[in-house]
Amino acid sequence: MTTIDDLPIRDDLRGKSPYGAPQLDVAVRLNTNENSYPLPDEVVEAIGKAVQAELRDLNRYPDRDAVALRTDLAGYLGHGLRPVNLWAANGSNEVQQQLLQAFAGPGRTALGFGPSYSMHPLLAAGTGTRWIGALRDPDFGLTPAAAVAQVREHDPDLVFLCSPNNPTGTALDPAVIDAVLGVARGMVVVDEAYAEFARPGTPTALALLSGQPRLVVSRTMSKAFGFAGGRLGYLAADPAVVDAVQLVRLPYHLSSLTQAAARAALAQRDALLATVDAIKQQRDRIVATLRARGIRVADSDANFVLFEVGGDQRVAWQALLDKGVLIRDVGLPGWLRVTAGTPAETSAFLSAVEETQ
Ligand code: PMP
Repeated sequence: MTTIDDLPIRDDLRGKSPYGAPQLDVAVRLNTNENSYPLPDEVVEAIGKAVQAELRDLNRYPDRDAVALRTDLAGYLGHGLRPVNLWAANGSNEVQQQLLQAFAGPGRTALGFGPSYSMHPLLAAGTGTRWIGALRDPDFGLTPAAAVAQVREHDPDLVFLCSPNNPTGTALDPAVIDAVLGVARGMVVVDEAYAEFARPGTPTALALLSGQPRLVVSRTMSKAFGFAGGRLGYLAADPAVVDAVQLVRLPYHLSSLTQAAARAALAQRDALLATVDAIKQQRDRIVATLRARGIRVADSDANFVLFEVGGDQRVAWQALLDKGVLIRDVGLPGWLRVTAGTPAETSAFLSAVEETQ
């Protein structure tokens, strides 16, 4: 049988594994930080109508620049942002890939502070960017001084900051972003995929954008909006950054169906974002319950919780799966990550932890 190694594949891709969170058919799936709530009927209807209205024109290419969608996204974000500040793609993974293509790539470097989102180094690999694995503190925090020292040492072309950070859950102090911007020569990308779940008073990097042309804030509709299957991510930045990513995006990368569905979902945002409070309640319940049982848990501003299992996390992960609860082993020794789901899913997870401890 032919394997990858038999093919004339790029040397820097040899031996690498693809992104591969298991997609298993189990009752309780809390492993990819999806929104557990199906879309409400009125939203399903609105998206259906919007997509239907596009069907006859599928013989035509979509708006290459997705101007109407970017206008709606600017309206959602506020902060004085205009359509020229916004860019959208098929998930924030694609947004970040485009940023690496435009600002990093062969002969250049990207730096991130681990443990963090596993796709950042994979996107770097795919774009031929050398990855620099900088580190968070042992308690998963990141101080301005520690961030600055590592950026100074490596002088990367692009820095990834993740706030709230996946998989640890905690949001960054904006002083860290300020400090990194102060010393970084290259672009600073703040991945805010989970921003809508942040605890009250947690600032967003959107407030720092004015006058900072090297700062980019990456967002997604996959989490709070419950639109992971729709694939819609976006960024907010200086208009020059949007000009730059247009040099590398594929023409017509965002289908007219995606654009129409995303616009309809945005128009229904009150109904969609109504799940956020319920999810935050379950997140806080997981944190409080596990802590009450003496388990170490990282503070979370996201829709997931990182907790210590006391032993080999692979064994603990399997034991929970055997109880029908799929969570995530992010490869962090001794720790596992669980998504906050519905009250029933959360109860199933908490019972499974109790039974397997
Ligand atoms: N950033 C972070 C931190 C994430 O956890 C995820 C999804 N797991 C993404 C970006 C990508 O999400 P999407 O491509 O669905 O927008």
